[in-house]
Amino acid sequence: MNIIDLHESVWRQLVERRGRLPHALLLTGARGIGKSMLARCFAESLLCEAPLPTSTACGSCLACGWLKQGNHPDFRLIQPEAMDDERTETDSKKKPSQQITIDQIRALDDFLHVGTHRHGVRVVLIAPAEAMNRSTANALLKSLEEPSSDTLFLLVSDDMERLLPTIRSRCQHVPIPVPAHDCSLAWLVQAGVKDAERWLALTGGAPLLAVELGGGDERVLVDALATELAKGRHLDPLATAAAIDKVIKSEKRPVPLKRVVEWLQKWLADMLLLKVGVAPRYFTAQSAAMQESVRLVSLAGLLAFSRKALQYRQHCEQPLNSRLFFEELFLNYTAMFRTDRDCN
Ligand SMILES: [Zn+2]
Repeated sequence: MNIIDLHESVWRQLVERRGRLPHALLLTGARGIGKSMLARCFAESLLCEAPLPTSTACGSCLACGWLKQGNHPDFRLIQPEAMDDERTETDSKKKPSQQITIDQIRALDDFLHVGTHRHGVRVVLIAPAEAMNRSTANALLKSLEEPSSDTLFLLVSDDMERLLPTIRSRCQHVPIPVPAHDCSLAWLVQAGVKDAERWLALTGGAPLLAVELGGGDERVLVDALATELAKGRHLDPLATAAAIDKVIKSEKRPVPLKRVVEWLQKWLADMLLLKVGVAPRYFTAQSAAMQESVRLVSLAGLLAFSRKALQYRQHCEQPLNSRLFFEELFLNYTAMFRTDRDCN
């Protein structure tokens, strides 16, 4: 199975646009459902010189060869340095950027202003687009405003609200839904992921995130966080802050702060479900411990802390002291229990 099996209807829509491509498409949807991979597949199919009847790239022509080696002259992938697979040992001494830099966008200028090498389309894939700050996005805007007819920008985002409205308005929007549960499950089983049901639940039905968690670095964070949060009012905020801070910093690739807040938000969503008598959706393995904690918080307290978590999520991008950030976060988490201890 490949990524198209998960997103057949979106793929058909994309393929139908081949003959009348706009100059920019914005693919949006939940994290970990395969948007970037789908965008990459589409770019490959556009650049391939002998696409298959299914419109996918042939994988064997000259263009496909260049794409595999990462040196197709009419293709550019723009992503944060931290996501780059080809970073060398010496690079790793410097902390890789989690942002797309303005220099990466400026470097596109020459690429966009010479004719295409293979007399076809030229593709710029930007993922994730929300990794551009305001000045970087403004630098890109210049290119989006003066499109050359043979260039396609493919932007991918799971946080569309964080894109400049001027960027959004210059792109045709392609929403990508979360794939059907059975389809994702079959896909994961075929990919050899153990406990596929559990990971799929934890990720809210996002199969690629489930693969990543099933065998990746973020799993350590999720397990550590779930263990701590399950302690409820017995959680020690300072010790937990130290432990989680260590986890996010000890990874070969640092885990962004926002991921911790996102997992906390899922935990809180599950607590809210339990509070109203519905089975948890994400942390199904911890539902017993969670049930115990839920008895000790009020619905109002839970909603108030969930709103606070949303604010944390919006502000955790700024450079800040992660240890202090976690201390405040977990102090507030335990305060939710203390103040409402005698309610049910
Ligand atoms: Zn090909």
